[in-house]
Amino acid sequence: MSKRDYYEVLGLGNNAGKDEIKKAYRKLSKKYHPDINKDADAPEKFKEIKEAYEVLSDDQKRAHYDQFGHTDPNQGFGGFGGGSDFGGGFGFEDIFSSIFGGGGRRRDPNAPRQGADLQYTMSLSFEEAVFGKDTTIEIPREETCDTCDGSGAKPGTKVNTCSHCQGSGQLNVEQNTPFGRIVNRRVCHYCNGTGKQITEKCQTCHGAGKVTKTKKISVKIPAGVDDGQQLRVSGQGEPGVNGGPAGDLYVVFHVRGHEFFERDGDDIYCEMPLTFAQATLGDEVEIPTLHGKVKLKIPAATQTGTKFRLKGKGVPNVRGYGQGDQHVIVKIVTPTKLSEKQKQLLREFAELSGQGTPDEQHDSLFAKVKRAFKGE
Ligand SMILES: [Zn+2]
Ligand SMILES: [Zn+2]
Repeated sequence: MSKRDYYEVLGLGNNAGKDEIKKAYRKLSKKYHPDINKDADAPEKFKEIKEAYEVLSDDQKRAHYDQFGHTDPNQGFGGFGGGSDFGGGFGFEDIFSSIFGGGGRRRDPNAPRQGADLQYTMSLSFEEAVFGKDTTIEIPREETCDTCDGSGAKPGTKVNTCSHCQGSGQLNVEQNTPFGRIVNRRVCHYCNGTGKQITEKCQTCHGAGKVTKTKKISVKIPAGVDDGQQLRVSGQGEPGVNGGPAGDLYVVFHVRGHEFFERDGDDIYCEMPLTFAQATLGDEVEIPTLHGKVKLKIPAATQTGTKFRLKGKGVPNVRGYGQGDQHVIVKIVTPTKLSEKQKQLLREFAELSGQGTPDEQHDSLFAKVKRAFKGE
């Protein structure tokens, strides 16, 4: 059987980002996990998904794969993390903790595990999102207890193997159900899955091995972030277990609106009110932009809804691909308070317009309206 393309396995395009890859992997591996999916081909599919993820989530392996595909001898089956063994490795633990909230089956309670990812929502003003900023955030997070080095035992005291699970961290629980007797493996609640029994608990963490500390983390927010985007701060999540790597911190941005500007991607939109006289006779007006005031020449006979583009006055692209524009949409404002003299002048103006020089654009517009009445 020929091997399927890794991108195809995960249902992704060749330029899929890291988050997309992770998301696709999580979704598919949940669907095909042999403990959940009882289809005959589920284990094979799961293996394929796991392998594809292991390659595509690793920058080096992915670059290699992009260049050489499956033909590279080092990319052979089972070359990463021991192929068919579902027990170990980050991938498996990761899925299980997301399905069962951390209470999954673990073959080895002492295997290194990655710490949990943390998510932090940050509210930004419109301008902060556009220009970026350096900031410090304070997040409460679990850290390894310094007193006991994470063991949970009072320093110098004895740590025994858990007598209930014999160190495996799991217990078999039998249940009689209408469908027969079911044996479930559960995390040993005597030792919380650690397989160890502490004779005297550490006084700092009361046996948890972790303490909650408020940690200050400097975060550099790049210019051009948008509402809902997230920034990954590598290794700033919760600490790993048994020497595993720390999780990541995801900072999710909530960008507040602006009174005058609206944003669409890297472009900024604003509505510029003009008087009837300005629009008719033309004018030079000052437009506020995020980068300071800009003078804009309004040509004579400008219609309402006309768009002007101020090139490069938008938002810097967050990936560094240039800068957006600002679009100014003209809105002609009908005056509501007029003096008697102004009214008189307008009446004269209207009279003159009735017999004045033909205006092609308007004539055709008025002609359309007339035709529409006729069609009634
Ligand atoms: Zn401790
Ligand atoms: Zn136990």
